[in-house]
Amino acid sequence: MNELLPLNLPGIGDDAMLLIAGPCSAETEEQVMSTAEGLARCGVKIFRAGIWKPRTKPGGFEGVGEQGLQWLRRVKESTGMLVATEVATRHHVEEAIKGGVDVLWVGARTSANPFAMQEIAEAISRSGGADKPVLVKNPVNPDLELWIGALQRLYNAGIRRLGAIHRGFSSSYGAHLYRNMPEWHIPIELRLRYSSLPIIVDPSHIGGRRELIAPLSQQALDMGFDGLMVESHCSPEGAWSDAAQQVTPPMLHDIVKSLVVRSSEHATERLDLLRQKIDMLDGELLEVLSKRLEVCREIGEYKREHRMSVVQPTRYNEMLGGRIADAAQLGLGEDFLRAVLRAIHDESVRQQIEVLRRKQ
Ligand code: PEP
Ligand code: MN
Repeated sequence: MNELLPLNLPGIGDDAMLLIAGPCSAETEEQVMSTAEGLARCGVKIFRAGIWKPRTKPGGFEGVGEQGLQWLRRVKESTGMLVATEVATRHHVEEAIKGGVDVLWVGARTSANPFAMQEIAEAISRSGGADKPVLVKNPVNPDLELWIGALQRLYNAGIRRLGAIHRGFSSSYGAHLYRNMPEWHIPIELRLRYSSLPIIVDPSHIGGRRELIAPLSQQALDMGFDGLMVESHCSPEGAWSDAAQQVTPPMLHDIVKSLVVRSSEHATERLDLLRQKIDMLDGELLEVLSKRLEVCREIGEYKREHRMSVVQPTRYNEMLGGRIADAAQLGLGEDFLRAVLRAIHDESVRQQIEVLRRKQ
């Protein structure tokens, strides 16, 4: 995916942050129009609404279907906003493109399914939608390769205006703070691998509760992600899906106003200097680590000659206790130090075992 094109979607505010907002589901024409007008008044430029809803169990509200596309067309005409909806089958793609939907997204249950992704990719390309922005939510399970695979299927079908949406990952059975675990390291790894792929964050589906939208959005911006997709409904308590996590347009306006958009660009002289310092300290750390492992190998020789076992638990526990006390003096956290020392100790043991093997 090295020839991605920019999404070219309009942002909001001085920082032109990408914000897609709208209800989880289109429910009625009135609800869609009232929400859209509220959001347009707050400066939102891209309106989302689910027309076909993937629900865990049958029998719930599964979306209004095609008639919702006409409501989205009305939103475009009366507010000038672009409109976005979720597609999960060939039929959805054909209808959405025919219906003039500007931005397509693929949901978390669909991006986990390679057959569905292949079908969607081919349908977009065949229906003349290859120049539309297509956003892919992470699969429900924390599998970065599956997420990348879904994006690659679209790319291979000629779709170049691609983006990713981080919406968190299913967690194990039981009570959790988040509806879907953020596991930030996964979208961060995606960013490191594909630096030109925009990644936006969906705090509504990560948090599952409206109180978590502001802090999660700020975290997303602090980590340098490219924008947000937030669920907003004219009367959230009565929403037909995801009621607990939706906010009214004025609430969304307040949240957005409270966010600090940080720049990753303007590196100042002072920042350069501090980074040089870090580079230097990391160099010293590496040297110390390599010296420490050299001593460990010497100890390995000694243990071999004296037929001693490699792991000496008393020594390890004594060392750990001493180091933790020293670390506290230096302001280093206990859990952090334990993790570092464990990693170093594991490597020392591995190298000492190698010494024993080589000389036998
Ligand atoms: C949605 O955006 O309403 C939705 C169904 O999300 P997800 O695919 O992230 O569950
Ligand atoms: Mn939803």
